[in-house]
Parts: sequence; C-alpha cells; structure tokens
Amino acid sequence: MKKLVFIVLLCCQGVLYAQRLQVSTIGTTITKYEIEVIEYSLRYQNNFYRKQFDRVFDKDIKVKVFGDYSDFYNYANKCCSLDRFTTAFFIESAKEIVVFKNEEFTRSLKHEISHALTVGLGLHQYPWLDEGLAEVMSAYRLDSLGELKQEVLFYTDSLKISYRTNRELTKFLSVDREVWDDLKTNDSYGMGWALVNYLYQDDRFLLTKILDGVSNGVSPAEVIAAQQKNGLRLFFRGVKRHYRRNRYELLETRKEF
Ligand SMILES: [Zn+2]
Repeated sequence: MKKLVFIVLLCCQGVLYAQRLQVSTIGTTITKYEIEVIEYSLRYQNNFYRKQFDRVFDKDIKVKVFGDYSDFYNYANKCCSLDRFTTAFFIESAKEIVVFKNEEFTRSLKHEISHALTVGLGLHQYPWLDEGLAEVMSAYRLDSLGELKQEVLFYTDSLKISYRTNRELTKFLSVDREVWDDLKTNDSYGMGWALVNYLYQDDRFLLTKILDGVSNGVSPAEVIAAQQKNGLRLFFRGVKRHYRRNRYELLETRKEF
C-alpha cells in the first residue's frame, strides 16, 4: 500500500525567497519533531551555502521517504542502479532525495540536503570536500532548549589523524570518486568530516577560499598551498593540533537521530 503525505517545508530568507522540500512518504509516516529537525537543517544549510556561493540550488527539492527497505531498494535499482549498499541518495537529474527511514534517517536526509543545495557547483570532483561538508552540515541541530548543538559523528581517536603523514593527507585531497568508494568509512567519510570540520571550526576564511577556488576551477590543494609558504604542511599541522586539543567522542545521544 502506498501512502502519500505531502508536506511542504518552507525555508524563508526574507520575503522574496522561499525554498520548499516536498516530502512524500511511502509505507511510513514522519513525526512533527522529525519535520522540525529537517526544516531547521534546510534553513541552516541554505544560510551557510548562500554565503559561500553566488548561487545555490534554490528550487523545490523532492524527498521520498521509504518505510520498507525492499521498496527503497527496488526504487534505487530502477532509477539509479546503485551498486553499493546505501540508505539515502540524491538523484541529480530529478532533484530528488530518496531515503530509507531507519533510526538515523533525519541525519541521512540532512546529509543529502547538502548535496542538493550544492548541485552543479563542482564539489563532486573532490569527495572529501563534498562528503565532508555534507557530514559537517548534517551534524548541526537544535536541542530541546533551542540551542545549536553539534552532534559528534566520528570518534576522532579511531581516525588516527596524528599518525597520517602529510604525503598521505595530500593524496587524500585529490582522491576521486572511484578511489573514494573503495576506502573504509573512517578513511573516507571520517577523514572528509575531520578536515572540513576543522575548517568550519577554526579556519572559516580558508574554507571560503577553497569553495571559491572550486567554483573557479582551482583545486583545494592548490588553494591551500597558495595560502602561504608550506601552506599544505601548515594546514595539516593545524588539523592535527585541532584534534589533539579536541577529542570528539561519540555520545549515547547520537542514537536519538
Ligand atoms: Zn553524500
């Protein structure tokens, strides 16, 4: 049985601007709380990306939420013949997010919103940046008191950041999708998150320059290297220092999302 619920989430930026998520559910329902979480994230991300890029995708985004994994899998196979296990993805041509409703589905959905908003900006050439941004953006939420909180997604000790050589890290900056797909989660999404999170927390100026570079066909490694003498080495030193000073540990509360 197919149950369709049409929910419109408004993302308001002044009077003239409104972006909507058109959510339809198949074999499941979405709670008011889940809608609030997604709605907040859309506003948060839209606000961030609009400051970074002249243009972000601002049309309505379709979202399909499946309650049954076999329905999700069949849809995924039919539309996109996905070759790896996944619980959420974004169809660029249809501007549609498809997500399976497991216990972490709001976070997966927030991750895909990042891809939807930045479609066509060239980020996909650099998976560490594309996926790292999506991970970082998906981590922000309001707590029950209405305060902005960052959810911890990776236990930083297990990423072994301080043991990674500059050579290895430099290589990581230009890893393509094919190589990325073969990496373990900690070595791909974990490290992508770690680098972008460092930039987001400690060096927003450099992050803006990197995103600017990508928009203009300049690679992140080139932008970082051009910052100053030994730019890449100083960047990696900054990353390592950040995670030496800030150990991120997974909290029980992550399970809520
Ligand atoms: Zn992604």
